[in-house]
Amino acid sequence: MKFETIVRETVLLDPNDNMARKNIPNEIRKDPLTGRTSRICHFRELKWEKPDLSKLVAGTESWCPFCPDKVLKVTPCFPEEIIPGGRMTLDNKVLFPNIAPYDRLSAVATLGNRHYIPMTEIEPRRIADGFRLALKYFRHLDKIKHPESVYHLISWNYMPASGSSIIHPHLQVFASSFAPNFLREKLEAARNYMDKHGSNYWDDLVAAEKANADRFLGEIGRTKWLTVFAPLGAVGDVTAVVDGVRSTLELTDQDLNDLAAGLTMLMAAYDRIGIYNFNMSFFAGSSQDDHARFHLIFSPRIYFNPAIGTPDVAALGRLLGESVCMGFPEEINKLLKVEFE
Ligand SMILES: [Zn+2]
Repeated sequence: MKFETIVRETVLLDPNDNMARKNIPNEIRKDPLTGRTSRICHFRELKWEKPDLSKLVAGTESWCPFCPDKVLKVTPCFPEEIIPGGRMTLDNKVLFPNIAPYDRLSAVATLGNRHYIPMTEIEPRRIADGFRLALKYFRHLDKIKHPESVYHLISWNYMPASGSSIIHPHLQVFASSFAPNFLREKLEAARNYMDKHGSNYWDDLVAAEKANADRFLGEIGRTKWLTVFAPLGAVGDVTAVVDGVRSTLELTDQDLNDLAAGLTMLMAAYDRIGIYNFNMSFFAGSSQDDHARFHLIFSPRIYFNPAIGTPDVAALGRLLGESVCMGFPEEINKLLKVEFE
């Protein structure tokens, strides 16, 4: 396993120090699987001010389509041939088709009745049950042998900086025969890795990171948690790899509980540095993909300039596909690890 870093240094004449020479370090890191690069730069103290979130959410429940008084009236239903009855439920969580679908089987699942839940108050049980509802949908699609029931993905955009337009916690639940770009690239690279090395990339990654220790966070059951060497997110990414699991449908009830538990630990840790937005996504192979290993990625989101709502992705990230992380993943690991000890 090769963790390749290209170390750079920029020389500037510093206006804050009489134009004296100043050396500013940065790194270009290559993802060991895909070769995709991340810039570790723009270093700053990993601490943000949280705005008054009660002000931000005030009034949003009046038009929220996911609140209990509206969810069964204003959300669409699947046709009978996909879901008899139109929607699926688990306690007060509701799954229905996405009104703005990006493929034939894109759904949304609410995480219950509560409109706004601060990140540190989201209970593991609520998350695990949301996953369970999504898996109920995926298992049904598999049972009816829907041709698009190949990749089963759950994503979560929490709070506006993540791209979410609705405050009410909800999951994007998505089955497709077309793997999204990063998943497809990872699966192709993992297949090549297996052909070349005779082993599963993620199994080797977990073993290597466990030995390195400085990016390993801990284990909860079969789930192994680590900070990502070459992250996409501005404040690092965390991945959880589930031992022996290739596809989402192979996850057990206990795996769902363990994934949910780990996610709440990350939320608690990131909250301490003022983070209150994140993206999360499953990455899974199809049921036959021995080279795949189920993993999820948790990626905190920030505003580069909160005063004017500047997002943390600009042309470099959006058009050139190059991500910027404002701290060393090994330093971010230390901030998170307290939760796993
Ligand atoms: Zn709501």
